[in-house]
Amino acid sequence: MAKAIVVGSGIAGMATALRLRKKGYEVQVFESNSYPGGKLHAFEKDNFRFDVGPSLFTMPHFVDDLYRLYDLDPRDYFNYKTKENICNYFWEDGTTFSVKKDTGQFVEDAVKTFSTSREEIENYIAGAREKYELTAGIFLEKSLHKPSTYLSGETLKALLQTYKLDINKNLNQLNEKSFRDPKLVQLFNRYATYNGSSPYQTPGIMSMIPHLEMHFGTFFPKGGMHSITKCLFLLARDQGIEFRFDEPVEQIEHDGKNATGIRTAAGQYNADIVFSNMDIFPTYHKLLKDIKKPERTLKQERSSSALIFYWGVKGSFPELDLHNILFSNDYREEFRMIFQKKSLGNDPTVYINITSKEEPGDAPPGCENWFVMVNAPGNYGQDWNELVSRARMNIIDKINRVLKVNMEELILSESIMDPVKIENDTSSYRGALYGAASNSKFAAFLRHPNFSNQLKNLYFCGGSVHPGGGIPLCLLSAKIATDLIPKA
Ligand code: FAD
Repeated sequence: MAKAIVVGSGIAGMATALRLRKKGYEVQVFESNSYPGGKLHAFEKDNFRFDVGPSLFTMPHFVDDLYRLYDLDPRDYFNYKTKENICNYFWEDGTTFSVKKDTGQFVEDAVKTFSTSREEIENYIAGAREKYELTAGIFLEKSLHKPSTYLSGETLKALLQTYKLDINKNLNQLNEKSFRDPKLVQLFNRYATYNGSSPYQTPGIMSMIPHLEMHFGTFFPKGGMHSITKCLFLLARDQGIEFRFDEPVEQIEHDGKNATGIRTAAGQYNADIVFSNMDIFPTYHKLLKDIKKPERTLKQERSSSALIFYWGVKGSFPELDLHNILFSNDYREEFRMIFQKKSLGNDPTVYINITSKEEPGDAPPGCENWFVMVNAPGNYGQDWNELVSRARMNIIDKINRVLKVNMEELILSESIMDPVKIENDTSSYRGALYGAASNSKFAAFLRHPNFSNQLKNLYFCGGSVHPGGGIPLCLLSAKIATDLIPKA
């Protein structure tokens, strides 16, 4: 049987392994860590359970597809619920707003809360939908690096309507043009962070992201985000995929033309085909040292990283839901600090995710498990001890001001994740959450393709290659990459 090796068991690595197995390959997955899932991991401390990384689950049908590949009903294995209330927003002047899944309700509520009109919002949402419909088939579902993508009628249609894509203005400019109320501008600017970019740099085409959230919805997997990892891992094992944990790949072997296998401390493993789910930067710099590097691609600006406090909190907070945002008073300055100064400002936007709202067992009775995150620059060797302790103070001050509590007194348990730890735990260059940033209109084209231009039989999947980061796009990368190879 033809043999395939996958380097890394992140969400894309597991999806790739499943798709390769279905194509008839014998599949081995090598993983540096002692567990699968990469960024999609979890831990327990002091009777609180926390998801380590992703907290927002969108487009679950891409996970379901992996069960359907094997003629299994996903609902027998993996379940999730739709969130009717997508996110609660808070501003320091006392304004609060809950984004509802139902678009009609969203428009209704927005007109009551902000200085806006039904027409303003409906036009914006229609524009977001149009952008998605014009481009998703080209930018998200196919390889951007194969001529066939550009020869389709779909591409021609999008090219003829480029003026609708708002690629020549940044997201903030588009939003300021679309809305009179600065709060609504800020709310729609936040979607730039869904791929680790700045709204003051990322092109206006990113305004399609709210369409994805409102049209397809947001979801909560039963058992928390980590159940995505647990379920796919079980499915992969059931299909006979072999996982080798605690066995980092040190080199991708090749004969100058073809990838021939990999090497770990335990020895050499041959394969007919090799897929790397490791971040593309260290894949070249550590595993392919003797190969010419695609410098322009590897030098691309990286997405933002994050600083997370996992707090076991005493009390329950009815004004909070699963997803909550406490907005900065100066959003532009927050992003200038992150992307230009590679530092953190003193008034961060604070994201609080509380899975015990959905799964009460994630926290002891009378308590909640708070995942408190601020966007952060990548790791450029800053003094993280200083940044973390200053951020902690600023976050607590912000929560105290907005929720009128004394946060310090409520924290029963604490763990911290910073960009250095994200980099160390997952090999993500600079601790970036989403590979390259989308801070330029060319970013999509500069992302590394899903195949090697130098070695036949070498392919790439995951958040640092086409089509980009985030769970749905990582799952698509596995599909695009494996669609490029024949059945075994
Ligand atoms: P990773 O998860 O990075 O996994 C790569 C794996 O490869 C790791 O297990 C690593 O140990 C292994 N590996 C690396 N090098 C080697 C080697 N040499 N040998 C063997 N194994 C190796 N996405 C969303 O959709 N929604 C969110 O809300 C969201 N929030 C996020 C919040 C945080 C804090 C973080 C960190 C990420 C977030 N993301 C979110 C992004 C999402 O987590 C990632 O895009 C996605 O999980 C990346 O998956 P991946 O398959 O590319 O690789």
